[in-house]
Amino acid sequence: MTTAAWETVIGLETHVQLRTKSKMFCGCATAFGAPPNTQVCPVCLGLPGALPAPNGAAIGLAVRGALALGCTVHPRSIFARKNYFYPDLPKGYQISQFDQPLATSGTLSFVSAERGFVTATIVRLHLEEDAGKSVHDRFPKATAVDLNRSGVPLIEIVSGPDLRSPAEARAYLQTLKQLLEYIGISDCDMEKGSLRVDANVSVRRAGETALNTRTEVKNINAFSFVEKALTVERDRQIALVESGGSVTQQTMLYDSKENTVRPQRSKEESHDYRYFPEPDLPPLVLTPEFVAEQQSELPELPAAKRDRFVAAYALTREHATVVTSSRAVADYYEHVVHAGAEPQAAANWVMTEALADAKDHQEQLRVAPGALAQIIALVKGGTLSNQAAKKVFGEVAAKGGEPRTIAEALGLIQVADSNVVAGWVTDVLGAHAPEVGRYKNGETKLMAFFVGQVMRASKGKADPKLAQRVLEEKLAS
Ligand code: ZN
Ligand code: MN
Repeated sequence: MTTAAWETVIGLETHVQLRTKSKMFCGCATAFGAPPNTQVCPVCLGLPGALPAPNGAAIGLAVRGALALGCTVHPRSIFARKNYFYPDLPKGYQISQFDQPLATSGTLSFVSAERGFVTATIVRLHLEEDAGKSVHDRFPKATAVDLNRSGVPLIEIVSGPDLRSPAEARAYLQTLKQLLEYIGISDCDMEKGSLRVDANVSVRRAGETALNTRTEVKNINAFSFVEKALTVERDRQIALVESGGSVTQQTMLYDSKENTVRPQRSKEESHDYRYFPEPDLPPLVLTPEFVAEQQSELPELPAAKRDRFVAAYALTREHATVVTSSRAVADYYEHVVHAGAEPQAAANWVMTEALADAKDHQEQLRVAPGALAQIIALVKGGTLSNQAAKKVFGEVAAKGGEPRTIAEALGLIQVADSNVVAGWVTDVLGAHAPEVGRYKNGETKLMAFFVGQVMRASKGKADPKLAQRVLEEKLAS
């Protein structure tokens, strides 16, 4: 199979659970992890005669999401019934939006490993309610239904068919998740089901522009499966077409244990759902004041923050991207700079030591910004070597405390006394006579080796610049 001759076309439909206390059309709690069927009422159980009432908080969060994606928010949108039968859908329909959604035509830009900066279109963003959950592993040979999730508020964000590889799909989703976390409208936790993604996938020969028959891949239930699932489906389609077959429009379920996809059912067309306007709800009308209020609740968005960091702190776009990867990291970085650290040095420390430490400790940035600024200052002033500074950082992260006091207690303060350094230099040169000979014969790159040996002999305490100067003097004589 020759993937280079093929182009993959992917569009994503992302369902995002909004961060609200209560459900979309009733007052039931949305808290995760409650005993099954304890957060239900006549509305979300679909009992006859129960009437839905929209959740204003959910509508506000949805509008914020739409604005952050640059969508046009429509002053009037319509709730619609999407009719289908499933055991976890007691009403027999889901309240969603169809031909008049909350918002349309936005964009999301992300960095593609293959194509650089890519801007995907956001075709639409609409409000809907979640279904319940079928539980297959609770009772032997029986499926249970938990309706706690029934009626939980969701937005569905539909991208155009603008992604060209499984890796791009992942990058798009990562960027979308980052944006939604920045604006705080969802916890985006894929494991808890608050971010779910379905992918429309098709393939075409390189150079073709028409869209071929697509399949929809579902059940991608962890971030790490996005790329794998789409790769499996892409490869299946290419193999199928190359062997003379053709792709059937159908829904494919991803099995993460087997890393395979299998057909679930033939894919429905939208007319199969017999959409019609929800008779129990009036049109959703948003005033300009309401939309403006949501706009004012938005923080600085990741792309704007990144551009500002490039301009204000002279960081490269790559460094600024890492440092603004989350709001917490970006705030931390700015605090380190405001505490007096040089911006590039602060970025270097945040991108390496601070993020590595956070990764091992539940994303906690354990060294206070002021303490990190002090460590950076100790390196700049020649009091600590880089190596020693990393040790001090680790110690402050684990136990807290004041960097200089810790450096002194650990005996890491750099020795800048040339007599002391000369002693280590003499020992090193005495122990490496052959290298000294080679150096004197012109192999001057051995200087790095000698400096390394002096650092080793001094247990990292020698000032490396001073060590090099003393070495040069002694080797010249
Ligand atoms: Zn309810
Ligand atoms: Mn949906």
